[in-house]
Amino acid sequence: MKKRLALVGAHPDDCDILGSGLAMRYRELDWDVMFVSMANGDCGHHEMPRQELAARRKRETEAVADMLGIEYVVLDTSDCEVFPTLEQRWTLLRVLRRFEPDLVVTHHATDYHPDHRYTSQLVGDVSYLLKVPHCCPDVPALRKDTVHAFFHAWRDTARPDSFCVAIDIDDLWQRKVEVIAKHESQMFEWLPWVDGQDMSLIPPPEDAEGRLRYVDERRGPRAERIADLYRERLCELYGPSRGKEIRKAEAYVAAPFPTSLSEENYRELFPFFGG
Ligand SMILES: [Zn+2]
Repeated sequence: MKKRLALVGAHPDDCDILGSGLAMRYRELDWDVMFVSMANGDCGHHEMPRQELAARRKRETEAVADMLGIEYVVLDTSDCEVFPTLEQRWTLLRVLRRFEPDLVVTHHATDYHPDHRYTSQLVGDVSYLLKVPHCCPDVPALRKDTVHAFFHAWRDTARPDSFCVAIDIDDLWQRKVEVIAKHESQMFEWLPWVDGQDMSLIPPPEDAEGRLRYVDERRGPRAERIADLYRERLCELYGPSRGKEIRKAEAYVAAPFPTSLSEENYRELFPFFGG
């Protein structure tokens, strides 16, 4: 049966960086995908005024939505102001109920950025309420269980103890690079600047091919690190010979909400392993 995947990130590029490989796998099956950004991205620049930046980043998400064939929802909270208020809770609850996801993935609870952590908490806060009809009665409550998972925590250097799944994205990597490169304001302006790169010495390339190479070089190592961290799991899921060869991966970890990703439910939500 068709499944529906919702990725909930804090900023308009988080879902793309952390989970667009999984989104592509879902789209290959003609399953539906929604990305949600809890904030509008208006602090992600050192020069561009905030309103103009939010509008530009919205257009970047639209380019990704067109490319992947997904829905991309950007909420209008300012960056650095994602917080588990009732207002943000009810907004997210309505967005998720309308989409009726089977699987929801969000930031790990231990993530480094407060917007990421509070996004994670907001997803946890609504996880049970999805099924409670008296809560936000204007949007029908769900009559099915929604499975919850975290992305691998951004800076974690170990595989977590909880149940996890890792997916091979080698064949999707070039396309994932193209997805990430759509976030031009981030990849070629803000992130090099905030990471302290001397833009006059090492200017990000201007041409399309150079830009894809630039993203590949900067984003590839993390996808390879995830494959190495989850190597044992990849070998279990894909068999030892393929498992050992996988170079780039994404990882999904059980979230301690009702209902969590587990041995009982992962195969129907991740039917990519064969066997
Ligand atoms: Zn972010």
